Amino acid sequence: MAQQDYYAVLGVPASATQDEIKKAYRKLAAKHHPDKNPNDPKAAETFKGISEAYQTLGDAEKRKQYDDMRRLGAFGGFGGGARGGGGARPGTYGYPPPGAGGAAGGIRFEDLGDLGGFGGLGDIFSSMFGGNARTGAGAQARNRGPQRGEDIETALEIPFRTAALGDKVPVELDVTEECGTCHGTGAAPGAKLVTCSECGGRGTISFGQGGFAVQRPCPVCLGRGQVPTEPCPTCNGTGQVRSRKKVLITVPAGVDEGTKIRLKGQGARGPKGGPPGDLLITFHVKPDRFYKREGLDLIAPVKITIADATLGSKVRVKTLDGRTVTVKIPQGTSSGKRLRVPGLGIERDARRGDLIVEVEVVVPDKLTPEQEEAMRKFAEAMGHKG
Ligand SMILES: [Zn+2]
Ligand SMILES: [Zn+2]
Repeated sequence: MAQQDYYAVLGVPASATQDEIKKAYRKLAAKHHPDKNPNDPKAAETFKGISEAYQTLGDAEKRKQYDDMRRLGAFGGFGGGARGGGGARPGTYGYPPPGAGGAAGGIRFEDLGDLGGFGGLGDIFSSMFGGNARTGAGAQARNRGPQRGEDIETALEIPFRTAALGDKVPVELDVTEECGTCHGTGAAPGAKLVTCSECGGRGTISFGQGGFAVQRPCPVCLGRGQVPTEPCPTCNGTGQVRSRKKVLITVPAGVDEGTKIRLKGQGARGPKGGPPGDLLITFHVKPDRFYKREGLDLIAPVKITIADATLGSKVRVKTLDGRTVTVKIPQGTSSGKRLRVPGLGIERDARRGDLIVEVEVVVPDKLTPEQEEAMRKFAEAMGHKG
């Protein structure tokens, strides 16, 4: 029997947040709780299914493991996503038939918030991912056709100018792909696949007892029902290998800290010749020695003398692409004043920011006797006393 899709049981999409999962669970659990449906064995059965699904999906860590297994197809036979309506249709989820003792009635309504007692699933998943040659026997094998490769998510640190102007950047990625030696079966060349002794070839085993017995994928064969007589030496029987993949990434101009892009088809190769997944990149932008950035505006700090600030001046400022522009400092410019040069900022999606010269007036810490004399005269003229 195929493992039920927990997402379908709770009636939520696989993209649901932890909060949405919790809400869906509480709603369904309240509706189907045996205390509320004392003479309805179907409700008890549904309730068990809901509880089991939530026990895994409600825990972010267990959910992640479950998602990995689910993506690998270890449970087989999923309908692909939520079946709508969720657990409100008793009898459609394939849990063990009622009559096994009504044990679900033993959970009181008050206990709903505490599911710690159900336990165990995390350990089972851990053993599946333990890397052991027997237990890791190629979760995605089965006699499936081509499958889409995994999406790869990576973070990429790029220089300020690369982000602003765009460029091509070579990147090496660690990718999990189907083992080329065994093509994902986990079996050594010439080895046979034999019926799994743990589950007798069913691919699932029952946990718990009485009304609580639930079917879960066999941790030894990972739900395939078969194990190789000898594990594949290349992948240690996992059916998967890690490889380095070199990709030349085109960084679009105007990328900012935290910008994410999706590169179609640049993820892992799909098993059995399936299409590749996507590559998702989050950019981190290194600070520049000179420029700062505010959206599409480039901030260029420029130091000027007290004389330039007082009497006015001109400064030459480098633009991002290496040209030089002359910017007029008006008479009486204070420290912190911003002078805007339109259109010389960062361009993104046909919009262009400005270059902003941020003035810092530097007060000299040493004066020649002539300068000091001149400054005193200036100060007197300004009404300075002392
Ligand atoms: Zn292999
Ligand atoms: Zn098995």
